Amino acid sequence: MSGPTNNYDVAIIGGGIMGCSVAYYLKTLAPALAVCVIEPDPTYEFCSTLRASGGARRLFSCPENIAMSNYSIEFIQQFPRAMVADGREAPVDWVEGGYLFIVPPAGMAMLEAGYEAQRAQGCEVHLLTPAQLKERFPSMYVEDLAGGVHSPRDGWCDPNGLLQGFRRKAISLGVVFVQDRVTALALRAGPLAQSVSAARLASGADIRAGSFVNAAGAWSGTVAALAGMPLPVSPLRRFEHYFTAGQPVERLPYVKDTARLAFRSEGTGFSGGLVDGAEPRGFNFEVDHDYFERVVWPAVAHRFPPFEAARCHRTWSGLYEQCELDGNPIIGNWKGRLENFHVIAGFSGHGMMHAPAAGRGLAELIVHGAYQSIDLTRLGYARVERNEPYREAGIL
Ligand SMILES: Cc1cc2nc3c(=O)[nH]c(=O)nc-3n(C[C@H](O)[C@H](O)[C@H](O)COP(=O)(O)OP(=O)(O)OC[C@H]3O[C@@H](n4cnc5c(N)ncnc54)[C@H](O)[C@@H]3O)c2cc1C
Repeated sequence: MSGPTNNYDVAIIGGGIMGCSVAYYLKTLAPALAVCVIEPDPTYEFCSTLRASGGARRLFSCPENIAMSNYSIEFIQQFPRAMVADGREAPVDWVEGGYLFIVPPAGMAMLEAGYEAQRAQGCEVHLLTPAQLKERFPSMYVEDLAGGVHSPRDGWCDPNGLLQGFRRKAISLGVVFVQDRVTALALRAGPLAQSVSAARLASGADIRAGSFVNAAGAWSGTVAALAGMPLPVSPLRRFEHYFTAGQPVERLPYVKDTARLAFRSEGTGFSGGLVDGAEPRGFNFEVDHDYFERVVWPAVAHRFPPFEAARCHRTWSGLYEQCELDGNPIIGNWKGRLENFHVIAGFSGHGMMHAPAAGRGLAELIVHGAYQSIDLTRLGYARVERNEPYREAGIL
């Protein structure tokens, strides 16, 4: 590679919520580090973060995911003041609206196991019978349900506020944002393992760094391939809809079921969708304007009959960075093969809520060589190498 060169301790590829979170925590843990974030689009037109629904929940089964949520949700609550930059607060519109997972009889064992795992980590969760569900949420049809778990301290926030707050704070701490796209990675052979020595940018410039972070979200598989690293993360299109009920409905928490219907109150209406896991993978942002009518509305109206007259006002599409191995994120490097190239991707629909904890974790790995707060070892690349899924049973 040739051309103008910039040198950093850490170069982060992708400036969405993951990249900005890692940058912030690196500078917090080690202020002297020279850190850059390479992000081609300061408007973030296609990035997943700006298309997210903003939900943050503790309702997971893997202890790492519950621990990340516990940390991240508290962090999000403190975010506006904690992330003051240049005298400006960082508003994120946190709403403690709660989450509610509901299951048919076949899902009850999974729900109860998750409930116990959440309680073990001190989460406020309530296991509810169908009658109790009906009492709390009178509009809900409960005859085909076996139960639900309600977590009233969970909620949602503005993903754009979270991203911009991290970004502004990172810049105020000295992080450099490079407006460019990584098109190639130069590898250097070492005595034991290879390493990435430089990132070639679309402009022709090279960025040299001691460590690189792949935080390119749905594009992270493509970026990893530039370094010869197989990463089972692919782009999965998902629609989000804003709709109104037509008849009065009580304020609802973020409701999720095993068919992957997920929606919540938003202003005077509702926001949500139904993930189609069989959707062909690809960078497809086309909007299917019949999807709500065909797929979402029947599911919503079945569960909440007042939605019989629901009206969809807006549909948008976005990409999940789907981990095809097990739906859990991949955090860390490829030990023994590519040790200075760290991945933080594959969050499969829960990346916004886990960005604070995951960013802190990866920053600890880079700065200290080991996790200091939450042990995320089981979410590392080793399981990909061994082809050993570590599945999240909580509804994704
Ligand atoms: C409709 C929808 C609803 C969602 N709802 C929720 C929710 O309620 N709660 C939740 O926690 N999560 C939710 N998610 C998931 C969440 O949005 C993602 O997990 C999260 O935003 C991933 O962040 P990221 O920074 O990894 O990726 P992104 O935000 O996509 O950022 C990646 C960045 O990498 C950049 N990039 C790509 N290629 C290159 C390259 N070659 N060089 C340099 N930069 C590059 C891109 O420009 C992009 O800005 C939702 C996602 C969608 C689509």
